Amino acid sequence: MNLADTYRQKGLRKKLIQSLREKGKFDEEVLLAMERVPRHLFLPNSNAFDSLMYEDRAFRIAGGQTISHPSTVACQSTLLEIKPMDKILEIGTGSGYQAAVLSELGARVYSIERQKVLFDTTPGLLKQLGYTKIKTFFGDGFAGVAAFEPYDKILITCAAPEIPMALLKQLKTGGYFVLPLTNEEDNQTMIRLTKINDTEMKKEEFGTFSFVPMLKGKSY
Ligand code: SAH
Repeated sequence: MNLADTYRQKGLRKKLIQSLREKGKFDEEVLLAMERVPRHLFLPNSNAFDSLMYEDRAFRIAGGQTISHPSTVACQSTLLEIKPMDKILEIGTGSGYQAAVLSELGARVYSIERQKVLFDTTPGLLKQLGYTKIKTFFGDGFAGVAAFEPYDKILITCAAPEIPMALLKQLKTGGYFVLPLTNEEDNQTMIRLTKINDTEMKKEEFGTFSFVPMLKGKSY
């Protein structure tokens, strides 16, 4: 695989990040991290259509899944308020792009994916790109990754039909749980829960998005 990141691609990326910056709602550290991650390498056919790849849009990846819009990644990463060494559980590794951004922010990333085709390719790409500390798992994110709990923060990158309670148990008290929760219009409302204790949480809402569904079980 050609892992080049050309001047042209860097320039297109800078422009995209500047356009996100102008929206005025994303954390600057997140934007700088996104400027360092060569997004085009996480997309299929990374040598074609440079300019499209650096527009604020989602793309099809393997397994009928998508890599989220850059603005969605910026939003979810901002809501997580990452501090260096934060232990983050991500549900839906997908292309690995979101995990790479969190890793650039200094987080310790644990990421789980249910689609075998993605699990077979994404961890290798992340390693090749130098993201050697990201830990990847093949499994059903509804169950989380109990072996490494508790997490400082948990992020779901697919449309959750309900709040997965097993995941809340794996979150530290005071920790954030960011998830797109399916609403009555069949879109998703971006939610941030703060865990107060095992039975109470604070809920905040951050607008409407569209995600691929969070599905039960594994897919081979
Ligand atoms: N974070 C990814 C987004 C990929 S789209 C990226 O940056 O590219 C969402 C991903 O969630 C898909 O790959 C999908 O297969 C995965 N997914 C859906 N339900 C899941 C579940 N129950 N457990 C783990 N992954 C799941």
